[in-house]
Amino acid sequence: MNARVALVTGGTGGIGTAICRRLAANGHRVATNYRDEEKARQWQARMRADGFDVALSRGDVSTPEDAEVMVREVERQLGPVEILVNNAGITRDGTFHKMTAYQWQDVINTNLNSVFNVTRPVIEGMRERKWGRIIQISSINGQKGQYGQANYAAAKAGMHGFTISLAQENARFGITVNTVSPGYIGTDMVMAVPEEVRNKIVAQIPTGRLGNPDEIAYAVSFFIPDDASWITGANLAANGGQYMGW
Ligand code: NDP
Repeated sequence: MNARVALVTGGTGGIGTAICRRLAANGHRVATNYRDEEKARQWQARMRADGFDVALSRGDVSTPEDAEVMVREVERQLGPVEILVNNAGITRDGTFHKMTAYQWQDVINTNLNSVFNVTRPVIEGMRERKWGRIIQISSINGQKGQYGQANYAAAKAGMHGFTISLAQENARFGITVNTVSPGYIGTDMVMAVPEEVRNKIVAQIPTGRLGNPDEIAYAVSFFIPDDASWITGANLAANGGQYMGW
């Protein structure tokens, strides 16, 4: 496989770490963003101890200015971004009738507007070079909705619309745009859910267990090789069979 430059947003999180590891193991040069320098340096040292060298670039993906500076710094360190994984995300759950404007906007800015903010500074270079991979990490809850997550489900469903539009606009430029929709993965985000709620979730998963981050990293890596260049505008569900619709 050709070695490429990959930017994984939110690479220091549960799923992001697994994606960074897998892409680095596949020979790519990988970078991620951070907001807390001390935390990020510790993460980078742990990755190095395991044999994975991941470049760091400061930036909050929810603001266009920060995202652009972050991308330019990655380019300075590693070269033009050829693979972009839009993975950074948060939850601010609550039933809609009690949801604040802050809960709504924070999730839309971080999970959906970030996709504009980070993709915009890389897309023109990909088009000029006639090669690119853009992969959104959406969610099963963007496909089926979820009680208490109107903000999150709206943002994650929005990523699908972004994917299929961008896929059409850029197919002739050698750029594929796809989405991975994870089901429930045993990261901090899901382990923060009360145990009794988590047990109810697991009971709805045909495989009878939560997923693990490596299984999402594998789904991401599937879209990257040149052999995958016919696959664009797809949504790959990786959810243990919990939801089998689009
Ligand atoms: P984590 O909370 O473990 O990691 C989230 C990452 O995103 C962290 O690195 C965090 O950085 C970063 N991040 C959050 N907000 C911003 C921001 N404004 N600017 C820059 N970076 C930011 O989450 P997961 O690994 O579990 O989730 C990763 C993705 O997968 C998310 O998009 C999530 O919605 C999605 N997903 C997760 C599922 C799960 O079961 N875990 C299921 C389905 C989808 P920092 O340390 O600075 O906060």
